[in-house]
Amino acid sequence: TVDMGPPTPESERDVMLGDLKEDSQPKSAVLHRSLKTTPLQVVSGNGKYLTFSNGHTILDTTCGAAVACIGYDNKRVKQAMVDQIDKFSYCNSMFFSHPVGEELAAELVRGTGGAMSKAYIMSSGSEAMEAAMKMARQYYMEVSPQQPKRINFIARESSYHGTTLGALSMSGHVARRGLFLDMLLPNISRVSACNAYRGMSAGQTVEQYVEQLADELDRKFQELGPETVCAFVAEPVVGATIGCVPAVPGYFKAMKKICDKYGALLILDEVMSGMGRCGSLHAWQQEDVVPDIQTMAKGLGGGYASISGMMINHRIADALESGTGIFSHGHTYQGHPVACAAALEVQRIIREENLVENVRNTGAYLENLLHAHLDSHPHVGNIRGRGLFWGIEFVADKETKEPFPPSANVANAVHLKGLNDLGISLYPGTGTKDGIVGDHVLLAPAYTSTSEEIEEIAMKSMSEELGQTQQETGLV
Ligand code: PMP
Repeated sequence: TVDMGPPTPESERDVMLGDLKEDSQPKSAVLHRSLKTTPLQVVSGNGKYLTFSNGHTILDTTCGAAVACIGYDNKRVKQAMVDQIDKFSYCNSMFFSHPVGEELAAELVRGTGGAMSKAYIMSSGSEAMEAAMKMARQYYMEVSPQQPKRINFIARESSYHGTTLGALSMSGHVARRGLFLDMLLPNISRVSACNAYRGMSAGQTVEQYVEQLADELDRKFQELGPETVCAFVAEPVVGATIGCVPAVPGYFKAMKKICDKYGALLILDEVMSGMGRCGSLHAWQQEDVVPDIQTMAKGLGGGYASISGMMINHRIADALESGTGIFSHGHTYQGHPVACAAALEVQRIIREENLVENVRNTGAYLENLLHAHLDSHPHVGNIRGRGLFWGIEFVADKETKEPFPPSANVANAVHLKGLNDLGISLYPGTGTKDGIVGDHVLLAPAYTSTSEEIEEIAMKSMSEELGQTQQETGLV
């Protein structure tokens, strides 16, 4: 034992704690997103509810950032993590395998009906997108080592693929790229997003819109030189940038056809849209296409651990296997066993409790309620989404679709109203000056939501409250 000496007198202890005393209002040592304000402090999570240190409790209608899909205190997941730590807490998964890693990868591959071949596990969505880029590049080095020409990626406007430099380079998120433009990768081009509300012109049919976007992609291949393009990259349902925007029917088939025409890969970013969120395990399963490479993250571990993944199809896996046989990539925390144990249990719960079916059913109910309550609202321009992933876009003028000025911060005002007065969380997204992106909020309730909870969410997001918010912000 260590001799700690006599107990410190109360008065001295106060002096020692100094700045940490609550009444002295210490500055936070955490580098928060804003250095000017301190965010609310979460102290407990109970099912779908979060409680803050000020005693305020909210129904978390967005699962954080579409993450906590089975709630915050699932006992089965906790036990699975504890059991894994009891066996071992970490191993170097670059050199070793382990049972939960093997089982998780097998579960994930099974979930694609065998369309994908192998899974690679990391810690964040951005890492998964970086790995996908490198995997695509390595694929062409494997199949055509003499002609290492395919270095260009084609991504889309109004997209978000992550915050690290490679993933940010692919992202069309103007605000997040802003400060770092000079540091981004040069080999990334962009085509228009598929956004029916903002992108389709009056009188245009869905088929014509798809044709227009396919032509644009084709022209981009031609412009870059088709033999230089490595992959086309897209989110099946765009999440953070424009707020839950699914592609129009036939879009992904048309895009895949162009990729196939030029021998390029299709990379689908399912970080937000995947793992059940959109009513199928992967959103691409509703699009009649199979990606060459896909990523996933948020619903994978449901927030119980930092975990993300990349899956590759047989074309990619076979090429690597018959080539160098080694994926030239690696992370210290890849395939972390405790994270794998958490994700494996989350995925088993989703499968055993038929939660994807519940997402489809409660999602359809939410869709109906949102339309019933908000369609007539003078400032709700568009309601769109899939499964339990819905976006509500606000406009200053419904006829012209003119967005509110970004300076008015409408989405944020609605978010604060929800948080403080209604006890729900609405994930806000701010519009851009050019109107490509309008102010919106995003809803992403838990997969375990009941009809009653869906009603509560829809009622609390109802028109009078939103109208009131806009009056308070002086916009109407
Ligand atoms: N891709 C998509 C589609 C995302 O929504 C996000 C995060 N919102 C990312 C990538 C990046 O994930 P992370 O924040 O975990 O790095």
